[in-house]
Amino acid sequence: MRWRSRGGRAMVVLAAVAVACVALVLLTPRGRCALRIAPGFVPYPDDTRIYYVPGSELVTARFAGPLDEAIGEVEARLGAPFRSPFRVYVCPTHEDFARRVGEPPGTPVRGIQFPRDIWVSPLAFEFFGQDTGKPTLAHELAHLHLRQHLGLGGRLRPIPSWFEEGVGDWIAGTGFERVSRDEAVEAFRRGERLVPDALGRPLIPRRPSDYGLTWPVFHAQSRMFVEHLHSTREESFAVLVRSVLAGDRFDVAFREAFGRSLEDEWQVFVESTMPGSP
Ligand SMILES: [Zn+2]
Repeated sequence: MRWRSRGGRAMVVLAAVAVACVALVLLTPRGRCALRIAPGFVPYPDDTRIYYVPGSELVTARFAGPLDEAIGEVEARLGAPFRSPFRVYVCPTHEDFARRVGEPPGTPVRGIQFPRDIWVSPLAFEFFGQDTGKPTLAHELAHLHLRQHLGLGGRLRPIPSWFEEGVGDWIAGTGFERVSRDEAVEAFRRGERLVPDALGRPLIPRRPSDYGLTWPVFHAQSRMFVEHLHSTREESFAVLVRSVLAGDRFDVAFREAFGRSLEDEWQVFVESTMPGSP
C-alpha cells in the first residue's frame, strides 16, 4: 500500500504541474494562439482553411486569393507536400494582430507561424510601401512546412535560424524590403556580418541579435547565402533540403550534400558575393 500512496502523491504532483503549465500557456497571447483560442474568428465561407473576423471580408479575400499559389510555391521549392492541414488566421487590422500575438502596437511583424497554423496581418499589404500579401503567406508557410516535417525533433535538434529564415525569404521573395541587396553587401563590408552556425539552438532559436545583426540585415544576408547555395549547387541544395526534411543533423547533412563544411562554403560565398571584403 505504501508504494501506492507514494505513486498517488506523484500523480497528484504531476497533475498539478501539468495544470500549472497549461495555465501559464493560457496566460500568454502566443500560447492562446497556439491553442487556437481565438475569440471572434470563424471559418471564411469561401475557403474554410482561412479563419477571419466577420466584417473583414475585403482583407480576408486579399489573402485568400493567392493562398493556393503560395502553398504550391512552398511545396515545389522544398520538393515535398505539407504533412497536415493547417489554418490561416487573417486578422482584421494590424492593431488586432499585434494584440493577439503579443507584439507592441507598432510592430513591423506582419506574419507569424505557430505549431499548427499561421497568422497574418493586413500590414503585409502596405509593408514599407510594398504589397507583400502573397510573399508574407509564402514566408510563414515555408516555416510551417519545415516545422511540420521536423516535428518535435526539430525543436531539440534544430536547423540554424539563418537557414530557416533564408529559405523562407528565398521561397517567398521577402528579405529585401528594408535592406536591399546592395545595402546588405555594404553592411557586410562595414562589419555587420552574418556568421552562419552549423547547428541551431535547441528550444529557443537564435535571433538576429544573437548573430549581432538587426532583423533586416540578418534577413537580407541569410537570403543571399541561401540563394548562393541554390544557384551555384542546385543538386546539392536539393539533397540538403531532403536531408533536413528527413530530420538529419544539419552540419552532417550539409557536408554530405556539398562535399565541404559550411564554413568552407561560406568562404566561397563571401569571395564571390562580397568582393573586396577581407
Ligand atoms: Zn521568418
